Amino acid sequence: MTLSEFDLIERFFSDCGTPRDDVILGVGDDAAVLRVAPGMDLVATLDTLVEGVHFLPGTDAQALGYKSLAVNLSDLAAMGAEPLWATLSLTLPEAAPDWVDGFRAGFCSLAREAGVRLVGGDTTRGHRAVSVEAKGLVPRGMALRRSGARVGDGIFVTGTLGDAGLALRALRDGLPVEDLAFLRARLDRPQARVAVGRSLRAVASAAIDISDGLLADLAHVLGASGVGGVVWLQRLPLSAPVRHYLEAGGDWAIPAAAGDDYELCFTVPAANQGALEKLLGGLPCPVTRIGEITDGAGLRVLEPDGREFRAPRAGYDHFVRDA
Ligand SMILES: [Mg+2]
Repeated sequence: MTLSEFDLIERFFSDCGTPRDDVILGVGDDAAVLRVAPGMDLVATLDTLVEGVHFLPGTDAQALGYKSLAVNLSDLAAMGAEPLWATLSLTLPEAAPDWVDGFRAGFCSLAREAGVRLVGGDTTRGHRAVSVEAKGLVPRGMALRRSGARVGDGIFVTGTLGDAGLALRALRDGLPVEDLAFLRARLDRPQARVAVGRSLRAVASAAIDISDGLLADLAHVLGASGVGGVVWLQRLPLSAPVRHYLEAGGDWAIPAAAGDDYELCFTVPAANQGALEKLLGGLPCPVTRIGEITDGAGLRVLEPDGREFRAPRAGYDHFVRDA
């Protein structure tokens, strides 16, 4: 039986996520028909996860289903968009209903939680890979971009940094860590900061989600905005396991440069910092000021003792790239 005969998308995904009135036609026709509310801009993003590159061989299907949607929701969050619709492309070495069923459970549970409807997809035979496209809406002209940071703006991040990177070191290299269950949940089930992104529309000057590591992703903001920046490592928000790892002589590259955190990094002009403070109590996660936008180009990163920090490679770790 071939995968297309199997018709995995119709069989497993025809009722996936939150039913929505703006889905005029969903899974089952040649294409989906979606109704865009007046006064809104459509925001679209696509991410591909390849086995051996973006996830370890043998990764639990349910965790992968969850994460493949979560990383796309995170991109929409970084734009200040409200996620509404997704399409899915699955490339699989064989038709394995058990695997697909696990994947579906992870993907569709997050879709339900996030108010997203799966509206179409495709399956092909090949090396295992998952592509998800997510679409969302933002009020006209209000999408957050990478290019709006200006000299004097504060640099902020949500949540804590380095948890996913430390989990990966533990799982891949056998590094002993504290509270692996917590770290692993941060790696496998990232929480896209959708509500934060939405709140930041009128407050932030630029935003990005941290997929490749804080320093690499912040460098994208600086480059797109034509500015420089300074970040103080001792201000990075850390969970207890990452703090203890560093206190034991661990590498600052874990919170500063390891990927897969899916937190937001954003900049706020001084004039909007009062507005940001008013928002903070209503947000589902901490927000921490870690640096400042400066004149010139490039990012200066200072260690707690004031020395300049050199990351091993910017955005160096997309998991098993060397494997
Ligand atoms: Mg992104």
